[in-house]
Amino acid sequence: MEKRTKILATVGPSSDSVDILEGMIKAGVNVFRLNFSHGSHEYHSQTFNNIKEAEKRVGKRVGILQDLCGPKIRVGKLKYDFELQPDDMIEFHISQIEGEKTAKGRYKLSINQPQILTLLKKGELIYLHDGNIQTKVIDINGDFITAEVHNFGKLSSNKGVNFPNTKINIDVITQKDKDDLIWGVKHHVDFIAVSFVQRKEDILYAKELLKQNGGSAHIFAKIEKFDAVENVDDILEVSDGLMVARGDLGIEVPYYKVPSIQKSIIKKANAASKPIITATQMLLSMTEKETATRAEISDVANAVLDGTDAVMLSEESAIGKNPINVVETMSNTIKEAEKIYRYNKFADFSFFDETDVIASSTGQLAEKIDVKAIISITGSGKSAKKMARYRIKNDIYAVCHDERVARSLTIAWGIEPILVIEKSTLNGMLASTFKNALTTGWVDHEHTYILTAGYPAGIEGSTNFIRIVKKSEIDYLAGLGA
Ligand code: ATP
Ligand code: MG
Ligand code: MG
Repeated sequence: MEKRTKILATVGPSSDSVDILEGMIKAGVNVFRLNFSHGSHEYHSQTFNNIKEAEKRVGKRVGILQDLCGPKIRVGKLKYDFELQPDDMIEFHISQIEGEKTAKGRYKLSINQPQILTLLKKGELIYLHDGNIQTKVIDINGDFITAEVHNFGKLSSNKGVNFPNTKINIDVITQKDKDDLIWGVKHHVDFIAVSFVQRKEDILYAKELLKQNGGSAHIFAKIEKFDAVENVDDILEVSDGLMVARGDLGIEVPYYKVPSIQKSIIKKANAASKPIITATQMLLSMTEKETATRAEISDVANAVLDGTDAVMLSEESAIGKNPINVVETMSNTIKEAEKIYRYNKFADFSFFDETDVIASSTGQLAEKIDVKAIISITGSGKSAKKMARYRIKNDIYAVCHDERVARSLTIAWGIEPILVIEKSTLNGMLASTFKNALTTGWVDHEHTYILTAGYPAGIEGSTNFIRIVKKSEIDYLAGLGA
């Protein structure tokens, strides 16, 4: 395998053509992200088709992640831009008004979710324009609250608002998100990311909605709110994966805490064998430039070494100057970091179930007898992910019974979802796997392999079979049942 850490790339105006998408897949993209904060359904449908076409051209599975926009809180319309200074006062009105200056150093405005204002307490902070302007609540009145401005800054209509220490309990899934989710179900997206998650109920609700609409995508929780950080254990338990969304997170919590939160959340997701994505500003300067800063390259390498499953590109690939070059830069950085990676972390994790024990034993066996790859015939994809949890140095080829399961593994560290076969007898499955492997060339006659499977097929968590496949046996296995 060329690289084990996966790359997620946001598609936008710079990258939505089949040619560019094809180049990005060849350069190392494993999953494309469609950001529903931007673009119409027509736009995303066209992009979706282009991705499928590019995937066909390259002949490698790529996943598609739909990122729901969520309840981004914004300032309402202002009659003109506010030039704010320290000690200015802003009134946040509950009724919808057009923002304006009312006296020297005094302004009024409203926000798109005014009910939040009733939850604020004196002393709590309100951040405007993605954290650029910081204000503190000093007075609460029935119709508006007053906040004192702490720094210089220009505020214009529609800018983002954050409440870094108020529990706001707003509906995380808006009407727009519901409509978008139905689009996602219709298009069989592989992953759906829920923005601004606060607690596990938000994910349970997303799963319920998905079920009601007949979808089967894996649900990822974006950790970008301070209460999500507090509730991360519960959220992780009910999610299929997580994203450390460092953009809004860096506004919600003090900026200097982002690296330690990133490391702690990655560790938790790894222990639970659930994929985790590290996102935002990874190679940001490449939006405009041909090269990244040293700090950005180090950021990507460090996320890899932290144990992330995937690293993500946002504006770099959506509106950047050269999306293929950005993916190449990310790939090269990952490959180099993986040369000094700490593989085979068998002592790092405790066992939650029998499959964990089997996964660990398989990995240790693979290490000791120097196999070329582990072939995991996996029903739900869990057995393969549980092996990848140990960051096994050998390649892991996943053989699935369902195309959707195969696609769900595109985001998971170190796993190549290589083949989909029918469920049958053990001999039948061995024969179909090795027949395909020999024809397509992902297995050769020069090496030893390990194969794991659950038999009878189709019972989740039933991996109960570990077989060492010597080179002399490969033709025999391919011919089984013939
Ligand atoms: P999020 O908070 O979900 O990350 P964002 O606004 O930061 O939202 P990104 O996907 O991280 O969005 O960055 C992509 C940038 O590219 C956006 O700032 C947006 O201005 C621009 N863009 C324009 N059209 C699109 C599109 N169709 N899809 C994604 N991004 C787009
Ligand atoms: Mg967002
Ligand atoms: Mg972003």
